Amino acid sequence: MEEQVKHRVFIALGSNLGDKHKNILDAVNYLIEEGVDIRKISSIIETAPYGLTEQPSFLNCVIEGYTELSPRKLLLLLLDIEKRLGRVRTIKWGPRTIDLDIIFYDDLVIDEPDLKVPHPDMKNRIFVLKPLVEIEPDFVHPIFKKSVKQLLEDLEGKSK
Ligand code: ADP
Ligand code: MG
Repeated sequence: MEEQVKHRVFIALGSNLGDKHKNILDAVNYLIEEGVDIRKISSIIETAPYGLTEQPSFLNCVIEGYTELSPRKLLLLLLDIEKRLGRVRTIKWGPRTIDLDIIFYDDLVIDEPDLKVPHPDMKNRIFVLKPLVEIEPDFVHPIFKKSVKQLLEDLEGKSK
């Protein structure tokens, strides 16, 4: 069989409904079952809700994995796992059992209506940057040409 090239991806996981810890662990297990080779998992951190602030706090973490899936197939897998875990899309930024976002896919830049990589809002999200910095501080953002560590410092500087 032909050897498939594996792509390095970073995925952000978040949950603020139901058994949040279990939702995150279940999502990680589904990813493994579906062949995503997970190399690193950050700490799971608790964060205040973003966007819509009148809702329960979140648990967030970031994983680094290797996959043969194309970006589009990976997105479909993430949406499918969200469905399996009972995510119901109600309002934008509303509560969810699980949210799975592609943060980076190698150093690819994708700008399609329903798929944007790197995730366009990651530079404003402490709950993505902190776990990322924990597992891969020197990863360079392919558009901003800054390490994730630098992006976190920029954001923390701004919020002071
Ligand atoms: P958010 O994650 O911003 O709270 P949703 O999880 O409801 O919003 O996602 C809405 C849509 O975002 C998804 O259906 C998907 O098509 C799109 N999307 C665009 N870029 C990405 C990405 N990098 N990772 C995950 N979803 C993305
Ligand atoms: Mg999402």
